[in-house]
Amino acid sequence: MDLLFESLPGDVAVELTGRDYLSYSAVTTYQSCPLRYYFRYVLGLPEETVSSALVFGSAIHAALERFYRERMQGNSNPPLDLLQEAYQMAWRRFDDREIRFGKEEDQASLDNMANRILTTFHGSELACTPGRILGIEEEFRGELIPGCPDILARVDLLIETPDALVVTDFKTSRSRWNPEHVDESAGQLLLYHDLVRPLAEGRSIRLEFVVVTKTKIPDLTRHAVNFDRQRIERTKRIVKRVWTAIQSGLFYPVPSAMNCGGCPFRKPCRDWTG
Ligand code: SF4
Repeated sequence: MDLLFESLPGDVAVELTGRDYLSYSAVTTYQSCPLRYYFRYVLGLPEETVSSALVFGSAIHAALERFYRERMQGNSNPPLDLLQEAYQMAWRRFDDREIRFGKEEDQASLDNMANRILTTFHGSELACTPGRILGIEEEFRGELIPGCPDILARVDLLIETPDALVVTDFKTSRSRWNPEHVDESAGQLLLYHDLVRPLAEGRSIRLEFVVVTKTKIPDLTRHAVNFDRQRIERTKRIVKRVWTAIQSGLFYPVPSAMNCGGCPFRKPCRDWTG
């Protein structure tokens, strides 16, 4: 493993994971359970099961992406059924996987929830973009942290207004986010800040989460993340430590009801001997 430390970080990343970059979701996977990270990114084990929360979140993302792509091309707001179609198509991408549904939840109940969410979105101010859409699911990467591979970001929505670049990340959640939840999640957008900065050309960069709740009456709320240089540098130092641990082969399970419920690696985890 010593040799790995002498190589370029991107080369080390390729050797370990087959990718020459580190994404924020890989970092948070490591933080929640290093063994899960190992199974997914280092061993590349097949994931035969997938949680309904992940499929549902991706399908809602796909529907919103469809909406904003139409707007980006200069078209008027697409009809609701186009978003519903995009949502359904996204589910089909998981046809070869066993979907683990939560308690009191099935395909029909999630479809109904999606219809309520998309209807609410379609009639909300989020459907009126106040500026020019520059990118949807746009990838940015850069050498942000010395000693780490490039950081890769996939920005859900990037809009320019006369005075700012607006970076939006959509989240689906069981309940509304409170300020503490926004604060705990801010690291992702703060890193994105530095990745999109070259595009800003002196304008300010506004960072926001749009949290979509999976509740009976859906709620779609914007949560601003304030720029904070100290927090950005702190986030970078945390990512650096995670990368150092990954390079060192520090992998161990962190079992908990929240972590393991939707984990696709429960069997390899049980079989893992340490
Ligand atoms: S089952 Fe739990 S402890 Fe094991 S890898 Fe998955 S999340 Fe980690």
